[in-house]
Amino acid sequence: MLQKYCDLKEIKGKKIYIVEKHNLAFIAWVDHRNTLSQSPALISLDHHTDTHKPFVYYISEKCIQEGIMLDDIDYPKYAQQLLDKIDIHNLDTVIEAANNLKNDEQIKVALNKDILSKVFIISYSESNDKPASFEEDEFLKNYYPMQLLKGYEATLPFRPKRPYTYPDSKLYIVGNECYAGCNKMPHDDDCTLPHFNQAIESEFLLDKLSIINQMSPGIVKNGSLNTDYVLDIDLDYFHTTKSIQPNDASIFHKLIHGAGAITIAKELGWVANWRNEYDSTLDSQYILQQLLDHIQTAL
Ligand SMILES: [Zn+2]
Repeated sequence: MLQKYCDLKEIKGKKIYIVEKHNLAFIAWVDHRNTLSQSPALISLDHHTDTHKPFVYYISEKCIQEGIMLDDIDYPKYAQQLLDKIDIHNLDTVIEAANNLKNDEQIKVALNKDILSKVFIISYSESNDKPASFEEDEFLKNYYPMQLLKGYEATLPFRPKRPYTYPDSKLYIVGNECYAGCNKMPHDDDCTLPHFNQAIESEFLLDKLSIINQMSPGIVKNGSLNTDYVLDIDLDYFHTTKSIQPNDASIFHKLIHGAGAITIAKELGWVANWRNEYDSTLDSQYILQQLLDHIQTAL
């Protein structure tokens, strides 16, 4: 039954679950969770942040079918009923839930059901940390009016320097303004491709891990996570062929090596979008094969 939704491979004893759409990774996360006594963390590499509310698309579709306005229903109550129906030891309920999720709603459901304990998302669609650090928050409060009046550059000398401190959260979006080493302020269109090309470059991932360690002090050790975690990769994280061919893959390989399991979402439609938009050589089958080669090498 699981195999209908996940192509499950085992490489040197590590489970690799490959799914078509990201919401189906939920089934894999449950399968892995059921082998553990405690829920693992998740590091997700994805173009999108995938942090929409549980079942919001399904519920709004239902409303349309029944001619009801979404505003007229009690969304939290309806969503809770759907969450309550999920029994992680009953695969049918897990599959039903996964199929009712859109491909950006699975993370909050997994946190809600204690399938994941903590989530760190490295994405290209969000450039700021979420939640914001106390330092950035303070900075924006004081300098945002100046930024509006005089432009972004006027506030830069006042911008606090890392390390930052963060409010406690189960879900962190890791700031991703530009590629590691970019000194341009503000960043511009010339930054886009080098930023994409650094996707799994060690220099870039070390920068992200440093932020993760500020978000959750002590969680990063020797270039990997010091806790049980799943590495989750959406192929739409890769926008160019170069992005899967880093000059230095050592940190990416450490992340692979340290993961309890790996989930890969193919999201072919999104990869095709990037082929049209950024790199005509981009090919999802090639990206997947290269990714599996990285996994093989890392293990
Ligand atoms: Zn830049």
